[in-house]
Formats: sequence, structure tokens, C-alpha cells
Amino acid sequence: IRASASPRRPPGSAEGAGLSVLVTGAAGFVGTHCSLALRKRGDGVVGIDNFNKYYDPSLKKARRALLASHGVFVVEGDINDGRLLTKLFDVVPFTHVLHLAAQAGVRYAMENPASYVHSNIAGLVSLLEACKEADPQPAVVWASSSSVYGLNDAVPFSEAHRTDRPASLYAATKKAGEEITHTYNHIYGLSVTGLRFFTVYGPWGRPDMAYFSFTRNILQGKPITVYRGRDHVDLARDFTYIDDIVRGCLASLDTAGRSTGTGGRKRGPAPYRIFNLGNTAPVTVPTLVSILERYLRVNAKKNVVEMPGNGDVPFTHANISLAREQLGYKPTTSLEMGLKKFVRWYLSYYGYNRGTQAFNNL
Ligand code: NAD
Repeated sequence: IRASASPRRPPGSAEGAGLSVLVTGAAGFVGTHCSLALRKRGDGVVGIDNFNKYYDPSLKKARRALLASHGVFVVEGDINDGRLLTKLFDVVPFTHVLHLAAQAGVRYAMENPASYVHSNIAGLVSLLEACKEADPQPAVVWASSSSVYGLNDAVPFSEAHRTDRPASLYAATKKAGEEITHTYNHIYGLSVTGLRFFTVYGPWGRPDMAYFSFTRNILQGKPITVYRGRDHVDLARDFTYIDDIVRGCLASLDTAGRSTGTGGRKRGPAPYRIFNLGNTAPVTVPTLVSILERYLRVNAKKNVVEMPGNGDVPFTHANISLAREQLGYKPTTSLEMGLKKFVRWYLSYYGYNRGTQAFNNL
């Protein structure tokens, strides 16, 4: 652990800030990309992940192997394990925590509500307790979600908009996370940055998300279910490419500002920030499907049904002015470009023949 956590900057790499970062949820989609990017620029990284079975564990293991090949070690453990966290903080004086571990997905909350409480509430508090007791206290950057805007019709969503109407238990736990982190900020002096991600997609992505499952089903000739809002309005999402999100996360770590407490005691005020990280270019779900059809050269079998009202919201759209001003955040990848990269990764990861039409088309 010491080796991969000590900031070493490989010759010729982009300049890192010399951070030492604990990445929670490191074997997850966003965690893998952020860990690789930190390591690439020479920062020290240690990951933790419980490798839960919410989606294909073999994908998480493949991500872990990718990380290992770049010198990032992922500890297998749960963020609710306070003793493990304390040990990690004893061994490595982390300057920052990038907290990405969570139970994601809005519909799964109908089946397994307890897992949201376990990871997104209890797990968060366990992690913050370890951070607050650590000496030095790290700065915490963590993933909230655009879902906190809930059933909001004042678009684009900016950080000052109301967040008191969550549409799912997932959204409620992210909103609660914002309140909990704020409390640790003002009581214990933890530096906190909450990032409201807007529908992140890309290579090594999450199989439970629509763009991923649509690709799988289209290639296998299986039908896809396309939800539509009431009054036949198409759902739209502010799809944001993973590389843009990674840049936003790294800029947040670099500008986080110090925690002011030590050993559970606050010594002065510490920064508390919230930023939207989106793309500011919402695209409807039928448009997403048509881009995939074009790249895969297959017409999807579509079942268009009314949104069942189990957690989805009709649209999302980020106002990113604050992140642009304070983080220099500037998304550069259109959905067309990003999906091309995703489909290319998908075909090669799942062993599709390089001679197929879809490959020739990319
Ligand atoms: P992911 O599910 O791929 O990654 C989360 C990882 O956390 C998983 O590998 C999981 O095994 C791990 N984990 C879950 N509970 C844990 C626990 N108790 N202890 C240790 N590890 C645990 O999800 P992702 O898409 O990479 O999302 C990363 C973060 O961003 C999450 O907090 C998610 O809620 C948030 N977010 C994601 C999106 C998106 O579109 N991907 C949008 C908004 C917010």
C-alpha cells in the first residue's frame, strides 16, 4: 500500500499536485477512471471497494486488474468497516479522499432499499468518522448526483435550485449525504466538495445503465424498453462523458482547500462546495437509441412504454457556470463522440469479431 500511495511522478507525465488519495468505490466505473488518471499524473492512490454483486462482479474484477497493471492497489473491504478505515489512515497520511462508493441506480431501490441505507448513509458516516479522526484530516470530494434535483422543472438545474423533491430512495440518500457532509464540515472542520454528476457514460461503464444495456440487447437481437414521459414526451438526459467527469473530479481535488480539524476537533472554518458536473446538452432517449443503431448497424426492437413512476425523472439538464468559474470545468465530448468510444470498447471487451459490420463502421 505504501508504494502505490506515495506520490511518485513518472518522468514526462502531466504535472500532478502531489496528492495522496484514498478512492472509495475504486473498482466501480467512475472510480476506475479517476484512479487511473490520478496515477497517470503521478499522484498516490489507494482504492477500496467491496466488490458487491449489484452488477457483473467479473467487470469489477477486470477493472481491478487494469488498475493493478498501473500500480493502483484496491483493498477489498466495506466502507462500513471503521477499523479497516482507521488502519488505512494509520498507514497512509491521505491528503484527500475521493468518495465514489455507493449503491447506485434508481430502480433497484424498489427491490433492495436496505443496500442504499448501508452504503449511501451508514457507509458515508463511517467514512466521515474515519476522516474526522485522521491526523492530518483529508479533504473530502464525493459523488452526489443530479437526482437531487428530482421533479424540478426549472431547467437548466443550477446548484441553488430546490432539492426537496427527490423522486427515488437513491436521490433521497444523495440529498441526505449532502446534509451529512455539510454537518461534518461545520462541526469538525472537514473540507467537503460534493459533485452532482449528470448521467455518466463511457468505456468500462455500468451494465445497469440504459446506454449499456441497450447496446447489449441490440447486439443480441433482444428487445429494449424505452420509457416515455406522460403526454408522450420523450425522456431526456444530460449525458456526460467519463473523461469530462474525471477532469472535473481532479480539478475538485486540486482546489479542495484544507480541512481545519485534527483528531475530531475543529480549528477553524473549512470550505464546503457543491458543483454540477454535466454536459449542458440534453439528448432524448430515442436519439440515444438511434445513434447506437447507426454505430451497431442494427435496428433495435423497441418496446415504448410509459415511465412507471418508480424513480426516473423526465429530464435532466445541468447549468455548469459555477464549475466552469471555480474549477475551470469544460466538457468537450458530444454524445456522438462519446458513444463511438463506448461502442468500440464494448465490442472489443466482449470479444466481437473485428471483421463485423459494426467494427468496420467505427
Ligand atoms: P459503480 O456502481 O460502478 O461504482 C460504485 C462502487 O462502489 C462499486 O464498485 C461498488 O462495488 C462499490 N461499493 C458500493 N458500496 C460499497 C461499500 N459499502 N463499501 C465499499 N465499496 C462499495 O457506480 P459509478 O457509476 O462508478 O458511480 C460512482 C459514484 O457516482 C456513485 O456514488 C454514484 O452514486 C455517483 N453517480 C454516478 C452517476 C453515473 O451516471 N454513473 C450519476 C450520478 C452519481
